[in-house]
Amino acid sequence: MKRVTLPGGETVTALGQGTWMMGEQPAHRADEIAALRAGVEAGMTLIDTAEMYGEGAAERLIGEALGDRREALFLVSKAYPHNADRDRLPKACEASLRRLGTDRIDLYLLHWRGGVPLAETVDAMEQLREAGKIRHWGVSNLDTEDMEELVAAGGSGCATDQILYNLSRRGPELDLLPWLGAQGITAMAYSPVEQGRLIGNPTLARIAESLSATPAQVALAWLLRRDGMIVIPKAGSEAHARENAAAADLVLDDTALQELEAAFPAPRSARPLEML
Ligand code: NAP
Repeated sequence: MKRVTLPGGETVTALGQGTWMMGEQPAHRADEIAALRAGVEAGMTLIDTAEMYGEGAAERLIGEALGDRREALFLVSKAYPHNADRDRLPKACEASLRRLGTDRIDLYLLHWRGGVPLAETVDAMEQLREAGKIRHWGVSNLDTEDMEELVAAGGSGCATDQILYNLSRRGPELDLLPWLGAQGITAMAYSPVEQGRLIGNPTLARIAESLSATPAQVALAWLLRRDGMIVIPKAGSEAHARENAAAADLVLDDTALQELEAAFPAPRSARPLEML
């Protein structure tokens, strides 16, 4: 499995697992646990979650599914913007730790920008890091101007920006991704198969067939070919988790890349960062 180097030198798997909408329906629980375990077995040891997902249900599911594999994992969780101040962030972090059944979060993110001044969030994150509750911190859904403000507010310790980026959402290519690259901040692509909407795309289907792959694998391989990009598809079944993990071995040839470029052209001018 390809690995990505975080600022500071630690490496993580380029392909991880998302958990939005997981842990919310009892009828799906067994399949979701099996999916997460199969994904970890297949090498997708970075797990992305948030206190928002099912109001803690996704974090609890991870604790139940993977508690016995903690040492192998790199756990990412996110705090609500309204919890990102000096008083609330430590409490939100403790609650996430309890639900995850662990003593540290590997990467803790501000889920999106809210009303709390960025300098205060930076300070609260750094204090959690010094206390050993989190190992790295970062942000999500911050566009270039917000990132510039974050760094100016003392946030040069930010490890990642988790953003909406996939074949059908190429806006960040013109400004945010180059900016993150220049700063040495790792980008993490969420909704990499556009929440399933890319799966039925005829171009993806045609390319997938020609490569003996699946549309999901083509969409993931397209993201994974970028150096330093972490990609976090969510799978609700063992079959999807294994299929997604195998995308790490898929190489897109020049013909496939040209066809994808024609079907999903790069933006011609900068666009505001989108979010889901
Ligand atoms: P996604 O990963 O693009 O798509 C998930 C959907 O695609 C599910 O319906 C899943 O179905 C389906 N799928 C996955 N693999 C498949 C495969 N191999 N074949 C066919 N269908 C497949 O969307 P997402 O869940 O929005 O994004 C991924 C993760 O990013 C989230 O779970 C979350 O952790 C994170 N995220 C973060 C933010 C943020 O604001 N920071 C926002 C959105 C998402 P099944 O469930 O049936 O497998």
